[in-house]
Amino acid sequence: MATMKMSGSNVAADSILSIAYSGTRGGLIFYIADDPGAEAGMPEQDTRVFAQWAGLPVLETESPQQAYEICRFAFDLSEQIELPVILRSVTSVAHAMQLVEADYSYIPLNRDPVFERNIERFTKAGDTICMKQHNDLLRRLEKAEAIINGQGINRWVKQDGPMSLISAGNINPFASECLSSMDAISALYLRCTYPLDRRAVDEVLSCSNRIIVLEELEPVVERMVRSEASLQGWKGEIVGKLDGRLPRVGKYTQGIIQKGLGLLVGGEGRVEFSNKTHSDVPDEIPGDIPAAKHPITFCAGCPHRGTYIALNRALKQNKLGMKETIVTGDIGCTILGMNPPFESCWTEVSMGSSIGFAQGFMRAGIEKPVVATIGDSTFFHAGIQPLINAVQHRSDILLIILDNGWTSMTGFQVNPGTPDSLQPAGQRRVDIGQLVRSLGVEVVETIQPFEQDRAVEIMRRLLLMRDVRVIISQEECALVRMRRESRTIHYTIDPDACTFCKACMRETGCPALVSVSAEDSGTAAGGKKNRGVMTIDPDLCTGCGLCVTCCRFSAIQPVKEEVHV
Ligand code: SF4
Ligand code: SF4
Repeated sequence: MATMKMSGSNVAADSILSIAYSGTRGGLIFYIADDPGAEAGMPEQDTRVFAQWAGLPVLETESPQQAYEICRFAFDLSEQIELPVILRSVTSVAHAMQLVEADYSYIPLNRDPVFERNIERFTKAGDTICMKQHNDLLRRLEKAEAIINGQGINRWVKQDGPMSLISAGNINPFASECLSSMDAISALYLRCTYPLDRRAVDEVLSCSNRIIVLEELEPVVERMVRSEASLQGWKGEIVGKLDGRLPRVGKYTQGIIQKGLGLLVGGEGRVEFSNKTHSDVPDEIPGDIPAAKHPITFCAGCPHRGTYIALNRALKQNKLGMKETIVTGDIGCTILGMNPPFESCWTEVSMGSSIGFAQGFMRAGIEKPVVATIGDSTFFHAGIQPLINAVQHRSDILLIILDNGWTSMTGFQVNPGTPDSLQPAGQRRVDIGQLVRSLGVEVVETIQPFEQDRAVEIMRRLLLMRDVRVIISQEECALVRMRRESRTIHYTIDPDACTFCKACMRETGCPALVSVSAEDSGTAAGGKKNRGVMTIDPDLCTGCGLCVTCCRFSAIQPVKEEVHV
């Protein structure tokens, strides 16, 4: 099983499409999670469109329990048709928690690893081979459709009336719940959204004169149903996205599903998806909010905070101005440098793009220094090639690699730069500094982001140089370190010295800093009259010391801790 979110499938697309042509021998699942509602940012890309392009079956998840069950079926299906199967999830299912009943009677197969030499199947050497593989792929999809139908993977609930609902994946439980209070509407709950279970759809068409298709994001199922209806010469009406009556953006709430069913029964109008017009459905998609409601920030003690503070200080001291100096950002925790209070990063496009974009801006004629920022994992994954390009073309860019030693945003995985002592047994570390120098970068500096004076001094110097310069800002991810080691120090604020100027909070944005307003401080926080109180949450503070560098009144003091081994 290979797991990724929808953007990962773009990166893997070259391989996935080629593997689809060759097919597989053992079972292979691509578990891909889409994000209707863009809760984690990035495009609302619909993997089902990708699956149609690649020619791979898609099984959908509805709940943790059903995901467990369909996952096993997905492996079986993959082995039967000798083709990878996409198991598609969405954020709402991926974030759900449920006690799952597991079937322990399953005995894993114990087979020797074998790979047959089969040029016609596992290479693309020539048009005859490629076209045969294309043909094989189509036959495998037909076989998948027959198995899906034969095993009743999609659930058909027949009622007496002439109206039907076809819903897909995570919408099924909501649709089923809504239908429980409505009589005489038949329902086809699709758990496989590609290939279309045409026999099941034909049954729906044969007993309906009006159908609603409920699915999030693109009208993938709706298009296939309309196509099948047209081939069958069906004359009824389909309510969906393609007639403009259901939204194509954001996730479907129960409110949208209920309104959609209202359209099926009533026949008129369209679903408005703005909570200004539907205050009864508070979680619908606001149509006009351009930015995140609550900008997320770095964790308390995150070293990236120190890097962006140092960069902003260096830009200011060099009189370059944050609004005039382009800083490109990249994927991962580091992109949080776009949010207040740093507001450093100008772009976020795709993995590794920060370095390519920086070169593009420079080649287009931007005369001020152009800075690219990228995390260590992203650099290993997709930053090396554009850096080679920058070296070859002697591009005037400053690259800052924010090296926290882990792939933190996706769950603190080990990456090639993780220290040797923390690599799994038998693995070794790849040193970013050695790697960068080996590519021909002549100016390479390593900084520690919590040592602000040195970090700012080096950034100031390198900002003014030409050609490719690289700064490696090195400090371990605070969360990983805190899980492994006891804290030796944290900070507290002396209420007598603190003037409540809020510079510490304004400059660091550290979530461990807590400000209590003047109004509340007189009572709850016990502060001085007419003045608020700034405190540090001792449970959150990691002792990084960054806020100390912001306080002109020496109000922030260290508290040493006893370390219990
Ligand atoms: S701790 Fe220092 S920087 Fe923070 S509010 Fe108080 S005086 Fe200002
Ligand atoms: S030392 Fe200051 S900036 Fe660092 S974690 Fe503690 S409160 Fe936050």
